[in-house]
Amino acid sequence: LSWIKNLPKAELHAHLNGCVPISVLREFAQSYQPHPSTSLNSKPPLSHQDIAAGLYTLENFDKSQDIHSFFSAFETVYTLISTREALATATRAVLAQFLESNTADPPECTYLELRTTPRPTSTLSAMEYIHTVLSEVEKYPPNRAALILSLDRRMSVDSDQTAVTVEETIDAAVQLKKQGRRIVGVDLCGDPLAGDMSLLEPYIAKAKAAGLGITLHVAETPKNPPEETLQLLSYGPHRLGHATFLDEEAKEKVVKERIAVELCLSSNLLCKTVPTLSAHHIAFYLERNHSVAVCTDDTLPFRTSLTAEYALLLASPPLGLGLSEAQVAKIAKGSMDAAFTVLN
Ligand code: 5GP
Repeated sequence: LSWIKNLPKAELHAHLNGCVPISVLREFAQSYQPHPSTSLNSKPPLSHQDIAAGLYTLENFDKSQDIHSFFSAFETVYTLISTREALATATRAVLAQFLESNTADPPECTYLELRTTPRPTSTLSAMEYIHTVLSEVEKYPPNRAALILSLDRRMSVDSDQTAVTVEETIDAAVQLKKQGRRIVGVDLCGDPLAGDMSLLEPYIAKAKAAGLGITLHVAETPKNPPEETLQLLSYGPHRLGHATFLDEEAKEKVVKERIAVELCLSSNLLCKTVPTLSAHHIAFYLERNHSVAVCTDDTLPFRTSLTAEYALLLASPPLGLGLSEAQVAKIAKGSMDAAFTVLN
Protein backbone atom coordinates (compact mmCIF):
# COMPACT_ATOMS: atom_id res chain seq x y z
CA LEU A 1 0.00 0.00 0.00
CA SER A 2 2.82 2.42 0.71
CA TRP A 3 3.91 2.13 -2.94
CA ILE A 4 0.40 3.20 -4.00
CA LYS A 5 0.26 5.97 -1.44
CA ASN A 6 3.52 7.45 -2.64
CA LEU A 7 2.49 7.44 -6.28
CA PRO A 8 1.69 10.96 -7.55
CA LYS A 9 -1.94 10.78 -8.76
CA ALA A 10 -5.02 12.88 -9.34
CA GLU A 11 -8.59 12.29 -8.18
CA LEU A 12 -10.61 13.68 -11.08
CA HIS A 13 -14.07 12.22 -10.45
CA ALA A 14 -15.34 12.78 -6.91
CA HIS A 15 -18.81 14.18 -6.15
CA LEU A 16 -18.73 16.41 -3.08
CA ASN A 17 -21.98 15.22 -1.51
CA GLY A 18 -21.11 11.59 -2.21
CA CYS A 19 -17.81 11.88 -0.37
CA VAL A 20 -18.84 13.42 2.97
CA PRO A 21 -17.45 11.24 5.79
CA ILE A 22 -20.21 9.41 7.69
CA SER A 23 -18.87 10.82 11.00
CA VAL A 24 -19.66 14.34 9.76
CA LEU A 25 -23.18 13.37 8.67
CA ARG A 26 -23.80 11.63 12.00
CA GLU A 27 -22.83 14.79 13.81
CA PHE A 28 -25.23 16.85 11.68
CA ALA A 29 -27.94 14.22 12.32
CA GLN A 30 -27.60 14.68 16.08
CA SER A 31 -28.72 18.28 15.91
CA TYR A 32 -31.22 17.77 13.06
CA GLN A 33 -34.72 19.08 13.67
CA PRO A 34 -37.43 18.37 11.07
CA HIS A 35 -38.73 21.73 9.97
CA PRO A 36 -40.39 22.94 6.74
CA SER A 37 -37.13 24.77 5.90
CA THR A 38 -35.32 21.40 5.67
CA SER A 39 -37.80 19.84 3.23
CA LEU A 40 -36.74 18.99 -0.32
CA ASN A 41 -38.87 19.34 -3.47
CA SER A 42 -41.92 20.49 -1.46
CA LYS A 43 -42.15 17.09 0.28
CA PRO A 44 -42.70 16.95 4.07
CA PRO A 45 -39.40 17.29 5.96
CA LEU A 46 -37.57 14.02 6.71
CA SER A 47 -38.24 12.63 10.20
CA HIS A 48 -35.49 11.46 12.56
CA GLN A 49 -36.32 7.90 11.49
CA ASP A 50 -36.01 8.84 7.80
CA ILE A 51 -32.59 10.35 8.50
CA ALA A 52 -31.42 7.25 10.41
CA ALA A 53 -32.70 4.99 7.63
CA GLY A 54 -31.06 7.22 4.99
CA LEU A 55 -27.69 7.08 6.74
CA TYR A 56 -28.01 3.30 7.06
CA THR A 57 -28.71 3.01 3.32
CA LEU A 58 -25.74 5.21 2.44
CA GLU A 59 -23.42 3.11 4.60
CA ASN A 60 -24.81 -0.20 3.42
CA PHE A 61 -25.38 0.45 -0.26
CA ASP A 62 -25.48 -3.07 -1.61
CA LYS A 63 -27.47 -6.03 -2.80
CA SER A 64 -30.95 -4.57 -3.04
CA GLN A 65 -29.77 -1.41 -4.82
CA ASP A 66 -28.58 -0.49 -8.25
CA ILE A 67 -27.82 2.65 -10.24
CA HIS A 68 -31.53 3.55 -10.49
CA SER A 69 -32.16 3.50 -6.74
CA PHE A 70 -28.83 5.22 -6.06
CA PHE A 71 -29.92 8.83 -6.54
CA SER A 72 -32.60 8.91 -3.84
CA ALA A 73 -29.88 8.06 -1.29
CA PHE A 74 -28.70 11.68 -1.58
CA GLU A 75 -31.91 13.07 -0.03
CA THR A 76 -30.56 12.43 3.46
CA VAL A 77 -27.26 14.15 2.68
CA TYR A 78 -29.03 17.14 1.15
CA THR A 79 -31.37 17.46 4.12
CA LEU A 80 -28.45 17.44 6.56
CA ILE A 81 -26.34 19.86 4.51
CA SER A 82 -28.66 22.79 3.97
CA THR A 83 -26.90 25.69 5.70
CA ARG A 84 -23.77 27.57 4.74
CA GLU A 85 -22.03 26.38 7.89
CA ALA A 86 -22.86 22.71 7.30
CA LEU A 87 -21.79 22.97 3.64
CA ALA A 88 -18.47 24.59 4.58
CA THR A 89 -17.82 21.95 7.27
CA ALA A 90 -18.70 19.10 4.89
CA THR A 91 -16.52 20.55 2.10
CA ARG A 92 -13.56 20.95 4.48
CA ALA A 93 -13.96 17.33 5.58
CA VAL A 94 -14.04 16.07 1.98
CA LEU A 95 -10.99 18.13 1.00
CA ALA A 96 -9.11 16.89 4.07
CA GLN A 97 -10.05 13.29 3.29
CA PHE A 98 -8.31 13.54 -0.08
CA LEU A 99 -5.58 16.10 0.52
CA GLU A 100 -4.37 15.92 4.11
CA SER A 101 -1.81 13.37 5.20
CA ASN A 102 -2.94 10.92 7.80
CA THR A 103 -0.27 10.29 10.50
CA ALA A 104 2.81 9.11 8.55
CA ASP A 105 0.93 8.39 5.31
CA PRO A 106 1.03 10.78 2.36
CA PRO A 107 -2.34 12.25 1.26
CA GLU A 108 -4.74 10.16 -0.82
CA CYS A 109 -4.01 12.22 -3.89
CA THR A 110 -1.59 14.83 -5.14
CA TYR A 111 -4.30 16.85 -6.86
CA LEU A 112 -8.09 16.85 -6.49
CA GLU A 113 -10.70 18.09 -8.94
CA LEU A 114 -13.81 18.06 -6.77
CA ARG A 115 -17.21 18.42 -8.44
CA THR A 116 -20.55 19.55 -7.11
CA THR A 117 -24.00 20.55 -8.36
CA PRO A 118 -25.02 24.07 -7.25
CA ARG A 119 -28.05 23.56 -5.00
CA PRO A 120 -30.11 26.37 -3.53
CA THR A 121 -31.62 25.62 -0.09
CA SER A 122 -34.05 27.58 2.08
CA THR A 123 -31.13 29.56 3.52
CA LEU A 124 -28.62 29.51 0.66
CA SER A 125 -28.86 30.69 -2.96
CA ALA A 126 -27.15 28.70 -5.72
CA MET A 127 -24.43 31.39 -5.95
CA GLU A 128 -23.90 31.28 -2.19
CA TYR A 129 -23.64 27.50 -2.45
CA ILE A 130 -20.92 27.82 -5.12
CA HIS A 131 -19.02 30.52 -3.21
CA THR A 132 -19.07 28.49 0.01
CA VAL A 133 -17.58 25.41 -1.67
CA LEU A 134 -15.15 27.41 -3.81
CA SER A 135 -13.76 29.36 -0.83
CA GLU A 136 -12.89 26.08 0.89
CA VAL A 137 -11.29 24.67 -2.28
CA GLU A 138 -9.22 27.84 -2.70
CA LYS A 139 -7.68 27.43 0.75
CA TYR A 140 -5.43 24.86 -0.97
CA PRO A 141 -2.84 25.88 -3.57
CA PRO A 142 -3.86 25.65 -7.27
CA ASN A 143 -1.69 22.58 -7.83
CA ARG A 144 -3.65 20.70 -5.12
CA ALA A 145 -7.35 21.46 -5.57
CA ALA A 146 -9.85 22.86 -8.04
CA LEU A 147 -13.61 22.83 -8.54
CA ILE A 148 -15.84 21.53 -11.33
CA LEU A 149 -19.48 22.64 -11.44
CA SER A 150 -21.91 19.83 -12.26
CA LEU A 151 -25.01 20.11 -14.38
CA ASP A 152 -27.66 17.67 -13.24
CA ARG A 153 -29.47 15.92 -16.12
CA ARG A 154 -32.73 16.82 -14.34
CA MET A 155 -32.00 20.58 -14.46
CA SER A 156 -34.20 22.79 -16.63
CA VAL A 157 -32.23 24.51 -19.32
CA ASP A 158 -33.18 28.15 -18.84
CA SER A 159 -36.15 28.68 -16.53
CA ASP A 160 -37.01 27.23 -13.15
CA GLN A 161 -38.52 29.09 -10.19
CA THR A 162 -37.31 26.69 -7.52
CA ALA A 163 -34.03 25.23 -8.74
CA VAL A 164 -30.87 26.34 -10.48
CA THR A 165 -30.83 25.99 -14.29
CA VAL A 166 -28.21 24.82 -16.77
CA GLU A 167 -27.88 28.41 -18.01
CA GLU A 168 -27.27 29.81 -14.51
CA THR A 169 -24.71 27.12 -13.73
CA ILE A 170 -22.76 27.68 -16.95
CA ASP A 171 -22.91 31.49 -16.53
CA ALA A 172 -21.62 31.17 -12.96
CA ALA A 173 -18.75 28.91 -14.08
CA VAL A 174 -17.80 31.26 -16.94
CA GLN A 175 -17.97 34.42 -14.79
CA LEU A 176 -15.98 32.92 -11.92
CA LYS A 177 -13.32 31.61 -14.28
CA LYS A 178 -13.06 35.09 -15.85
CA GLN A 179 -12.56 36.54 -12.36
CA GLY A 180 -9.64 34.15 -11.87
CA ARG A 181 -11.47 31.94 -9.39
CA ARG A 182 -10.65 28.22 -9.18
CA ILE A 183 -13.41 26.76 -11.37
CA VAL A 184 -11.72 24.59 -13.98
CA GLY A 185 -14.56 22.70 -15.61
CA VAL A 186 -18.15 21.67 -16.07
CA ASP A 187 -19.59 18.18 -15.58
CA LEU A 188 -22.84 16.49 -16.57
CA CYS A 189 -24.18 14.02 -13.99
CA GLY A 190 -27.38 12.90 -12.24
CA ASP A 191 -29.97 10.25 -13.07
CA PRO A 192 -28.58 8.72 -16.30
CA LEU A 193 -32.00 8.39 -17.91
CA ALA A 194 -33.35 11.88 -17.13
CA GLY A 195 -33.43 14.97 -19.31
CA ASP A 196 -33.05 15.89 -22.97
CA MET A 197 -29.36 16.06 -23.80
CA SER A 198 -29.95 17.69 -27.18
CA LEU A 199 -30.69 20.98 -25.36
CA LEU A 200 -27.22 21.23 -23.85
CA GLU A 201 -25.15 22.01 -26.94
CA PRO A 202 -25.04 25.85 -26.76
CA TYR A 203 -24.28 25.75 -23.04
CA ILE A 204 -21.42 23.29 -23.37
CA ALA A 205 -20.10 25.36 -26.30
CA LYS A 206 -20.18 28.51 -24.14
CA ALA A 207 -18.26 26.78 -21.34
CA LYS A 208 -15.67 25.44 -23.78
CA ALA A 209 -15.23 28.85 -25.38
CA ALA A 210 -14.47 30.27 -21.92
CA GLY A 211 -11.64 27.74 -21.54
CA LEU A 212 -13.45 25.45 -19.11
CA GLY A 213 -12.81 21.71 -19.26
CA ILE A 214 -15.81 19.54 -20.12
CA THR A 215 -16.45 16.15 -18.60
CA LEU A 216 -19.67 14.24 -19.26
CA HIS A 217 -21.12 11.14 -17.61
CA VAL A 218 -22.07 9.07 -20.65
CA ALA A 219 -23.57 5.64 -21.35
CA GLU A 220 -23.78 4.65 -17.70
CA THR A 221 -26.61 2.17 -18.28
CA PRO A 222 -27.59 -0.18 -21.12
CA LYS A 223 -30.74 1.94 -21.50
CA ASN A 224 -28.85 5.05 -22.63
CA PRO A 225 -29.56 5.25 -26.38
CA PRO A 226 -26.43 5.15 -28.59
CA GLU A 227 -27.71 8.29 -30.38
CA GLU A 228 -27.63 10.21 -27.10
CA THR A 229 -24.05 9.09 -26.44
CA LEU A 230 -22.96 10.14 -29.94
CA GLN A 231 -24.68 13.48 -29.46
CA LEU A 232 -22.83 14.09 -26.17
CA LEU A 233 -19.56 13.08 -27.84
CA SER A 234 -20.26 15.57 -30.63
CA TYR A 235 -20.06 18.38 -28.03
CA GLY A 236 -16.31 17.72 -27.87
CA PRO A 237 -15.80 16.81 -24.19
CA HIS A 238 -12.25 16.64 -22.83
CA ARG A 239 -13.09 13.74 -20.52
CA LEU A 240 -15.88 11.23 -19.96
CA GLY A 241 -17.28 9.73 -16.76
CA HIS A 242 -17.86 5.94 -16.70
CA ALA A 243 -18.57 5.43 -20.45
CA THR A 244 -19.63 1.88 -19.60
CA PHE A 245 -21.98 1.02 -22.47
CA LEU A 246 -20.35 2.56 -25.56
CA ASP A 247 -21.10 0.91 -28.89
CA GLU A 248 -18.36 0.33 -31.45
CA GLU A 249 -18.84 3.69 -33.16
CA ALA A 250 -18.64 5.60 -29.87
CA LYS A 251 -15.62 3.61 -28.68
CA GLU A 252 -13.81 4.35 -31.92
CA LYS A 253 -14.54 8.06 -31.56
CA VAL A 254 -13.33 8.16 -27.94
CA VAL A 255 -10.06 6.43 -28.85
CA LYS A 256 -9.51 8.45 -32.02
CA GLU A 257 -10.20 11.77 -30.32
CA ARG A 258 -8.14 10.75 -27.26
CA ILE A 259 -10.87 11.62 -24.78
CA ALA A 260 -9.63 10.59 -21.34
CA VAL A 261 -12.02 8.31 -19.44
CA GLU A 262 -12.65 8.58 -15.69
CA LEU A 263 -13.21 5.05 -14.39
CA CYS A 264 -14.67 4.17 -10.99
CA LEU A 265 -14.30 0.43 -10.37
CA SER A 266 -16.08 0.00 -7.01
CA SER A 267 -18.87 2.33 -8.07
CA ASN A 268 -19.57 0.27 -11.18
CA LEU A 269 -19.54 -3.01 -9.25
CA LEU A 270 -21.86 -1.74 -6.50
CA CYS A 271 -24.23 -0.06 -8.98
CA LYS A 272 -24.18 -3.35 -10.90
CA THR A 273 -23.38 -1.76 -14.23
CA VAL A 274 -20.32 -4.03 -14.50
CA PRO A 275 -20.68 -7.64 -13.26
CA THR A 276 -17.05 -8.39 -12.32
CA LEU A 277 -13.70 -6.62 -12.43
CA SER A 278 -12.51 -8.98 -15.14
CA ALA A 279 -15.40 -7.75 -17.33
CA HIS A 280 -14.62 -4.07 -16.69
CA HIS A 281 -14.18 -1.82 -19.72
CA ILE A 282 -10.84 -0.57 -18.32
CA ALA A 283 -9.28 -3.53 -20.19
CA PHE A 284 -10.43 -2.09 -23.53
CA TYR A 285 -8.64 1.21 -22.85
CA LEU A 286 -5.48 -0.32 -21.39
CA GLU A 287 -5.11 -2.55 -24.46
CA ARG A 288 -5.22 0.57 -26.63
CA ASN A 289 -2.86 2.59 -24.47
CA HIS A 290 -5.71 5.08 -23.97
CA SER A 291 -5.67 7.61 -21.13
CA VAL A 292 -7.78 6.59 -18.12
CA ALA A 293 -8.03 8.10 -14.65
CA VAL A 294 -9.07 5.74 -11.85
CA CYS A 295 -11.32 7.59 -9.40
CA THR A 296 -13.64 7.01 -6.44
CA ASP A 297 -16.93 8.66 -7.57
CA ASP A 298 -18.63 8.66 -4.12
CA THR A 299 -16.46 7.43 -1.25
CA LEU A 300 -19.35 7.16 1.21
CA PRO A 301 -21.84 4.79 -0.47
CA PHE A 302 -19.12 2.90 -2.33
CA ARG A 303 -17.03 2.54 0.86
CA THR A 304 -13.84 3.28 -0.99
CA SER A 305 -10.80 5.54 -1.19
CA LEU A 306 -8.40 6.36 -3.99
CA THR A 307 -5.82 4.05 -2.39
CA ALA A 308 -8.41 1.24 -2.39
CA GLU A 309 -9.22 1.82 -6.09
CA TYR A 310 -5.52 1.64 -6.99
CA ALA A 311 -5.15 -1.48 -4.81
CA LEU A 312 -7.83 -3.12 -6.99
CA LEU A 313 -5.63 -2.46 -10.03
CA LEU A 314 -2.65 -4.20 -8.45
CA ALA A 315 -4.31 -7.10 -6.57
CA SER A 316 -4.29 -10.49 -8.27
CA PRO A 317 -7.54 -11.72 -9.86
CA PRO A 318 -10.27 -12.41 -8.91
CA LEU A 319 -9.90 -9.78 -6.16
CA GLY A 320 -8.22 -7.25 -8.46
CA LEU A 321 -7.04 -6.79 -12.02
CA GLY A 322 -3.47 -8.02 -11.50
CA LEU A 323 -1.81 -5.09 -13.32
CA SER A 324 1.94 -4.55 -13.01
CA GLU A 325 3.42 -1.64 -11.07
CA ALA A 326 4.52 -0.12 -14.38
CA GLN A 327 0.93 -0.22 -15.70
CA VAL A 328 -0.46 1.31 -12.51
CA ALA A 329 2.21 4.04 -12.48
CA LYS A 330 1.19 4.85 -16.06
CA ILE A 331 -2.47 5.18 -15.07
CA ALA A 332 -1.47 7.49 -12.20
CA LYS A 333 0.62 9.64 -14.54
CA GLY A 334 -2.29 9.71 -17.03
CA SER A 335 -4.60 11.00 -14.30
CA MET A 336 -2.24 13.91 -13.59
CA ASP A 337 -1.99 14.68 -17.32
CA ALA A 338 -5.80 14.66 -17.76
CA ALA A 339 -6.35 17.36 -15.11
CA PHE A 340 -8.20 20.44 -16.35
CA THR A 341 -5.49 22.67 -14.89
CA VAL A 342 -3.20 21.19 -17.53
CA LEU A 343 -5.75 22.34 -20.13
CA ASN A 344 -5.88 25.85 -18.71
P1 5GP B 1 -23.19 16.79 -5.48
O1 5GP B 1 -23.19 17.19 -6.93
O2 5GP B 1 -24.50 17.08 -4.81
O3 5GP B 1 -22.02 17.34 -4.72
O4 5GP B 1 -22.94 15.21 -5.45
C1 5GP B 1 -23.97 14.25 -5.48
C2 5GP B 1 -24.66 14.21 -6.84
O5 5GP B 1 -23.73 13.77 -7.83
C3 5GP B 1 -25.80 13.20 -6.92
O6 5GP B 1 -27.04 13.73 -6.49
C4 5GP B 1 -25.84 12.85 -8.41
O7 5GP B 1 -26.58 13.82 -9.12
C5 5GP B 1 -24.39 12.98 -8.81
N1 5GP B 1 -23.72 11.66 -8.85
C6 5GP B 1 -23.01 11.07 -7.89
N2 5GP B 1 -22.55 9.88 -8.31
C7 5GP B 1 -23.00 9.71 -9.57
C8 5GP B 1 -22.84 8.67 -10.53
O8 5GP B 1 -22.22 7.62 -10.33
N3 5GP B 1 -23.46 8.86 -11.73
C9 5GP B 1 -24.17 10.00 -12.02
N4 5GP B 1 -24.73 10.10 -13.23
N5 5GP B 1 -24.32 11.00 -11.13
C10 5GP B 1 -23.73 10.84 -9.92
